[in-house]
Amino acid sequence: MTATIIDGKSLSQSIRDDIKKQIADRVARGLNPPGLATILVGDDPASQTYVRNKHRACDDVGIRNISHELPEDTSQEELDALIKKLNDDPEVTGILLQLPLPKHLDEESLLAAIKLTKDVDGFNPINIGRIALRGLAPVFVPCTPAGIMKMLKEYQAPIQGANAVVIGRSNIVGMPVSLLLTKENATVTICHSKTRDLTSITRNADILIAAIGKPEFVSADMVKPGAYVIDVGINSVDDPSRKSGYRLVGDVAFDEVAKVAGAITPVPGGVGPMTIAMLLKNTMRALELAEK
Ligand code: NDP
Repeated sequence: MTATIIDGKSLSQSIRDDIKKQIADRVARGLNPPGLATILVGDDPASQTYVRNKHRACDDVGIRNISHELPEDTSQEELDALIKKLNDDPEVTGILLQLPLPKHLDEESLLAAIKLTKDVDGFNPINIGRIALRGLAPVFVPCTPAGIMKMLKEYQAPIQGANAVVIGRSNIVGMPVSLLLTKENATVTICHSKTRDLTSITRNADILIAAIGKPEFVSADMVKPGAYVIDVGINSVDDPSRKSGYRLVGDVAFDEVAKVAGAITPVPGGVGPMTIAMLLKNTMRALELAEK
């Protein structure tokens, strides 16, 4: 069997095209485009790249970038004051605080300070709580989990009643995607570094999500034939054959798993572009909420 490739790149492009058209229509009617405020603290190169990519995506669809780049030694009080100012600024539709923050800052309280209706990353603890509770909907679904759910649905994964296994329980990916799958009536098992006999669990998965951060960790023998495999990992590995000296691989051994799975996301070109598309979509939703 050769798996269907879940093409996050083209799916995300169609979402971006749609948003671009909506914004162009607004501007043609004399209305303001949405504005996304990004806050980057310190000079971590990976975070700088992520923020740059988000800015590019905003430019492409016509969302205004309101960029705040702050030094590593920014205090909690300064950051808190900036978030409060952005909360009250009508030109700011959404606020994104790039994680991780330098160690001296209290991430939880800063995320909680972001106004719920501007929390386009969906990391305000109230948002996560609303995903977990029955009968409540989050204001925003965090971008990577939202992108994963969108891909599963677009490629007709039968979620209801499926055995879904999520490897990883982080606040930004593993835990929220597990909650979303539960909300959609999958039977979810969450695995982590202390899980015993992981393979016996993953081999039972109709839907397998890998969000671990370990290159090519999931091998073919861990995958049920025909399963939907979503690879969230982005890992850089040495590759002397490339000019850059490295290449990006996921948490799944793509070549061997693609021979067993029914459908699989590539890295790059799978979850990554969908995460950015969902950020743009959440910013459009924030605009709707602001204009209600
Ligand atoms: P974290 O490091 O926060 O979490 C990793 C999780 O994997 C933890 O729950 C950990 O368990 C678990 N884990 C680690 N080792 C094992 C193991 N041997 N067996 C089973 N579980 C294990 O990572 P993130 O969730 O932030 O990110 C995961 C990956 O996804 C990274 O490669 C990251 O770069 C990528 N990523 C990609 C995004 C995208 O847009 N494509 C967005 C966000 C992340 P424990 O809890 O016990 O420590």
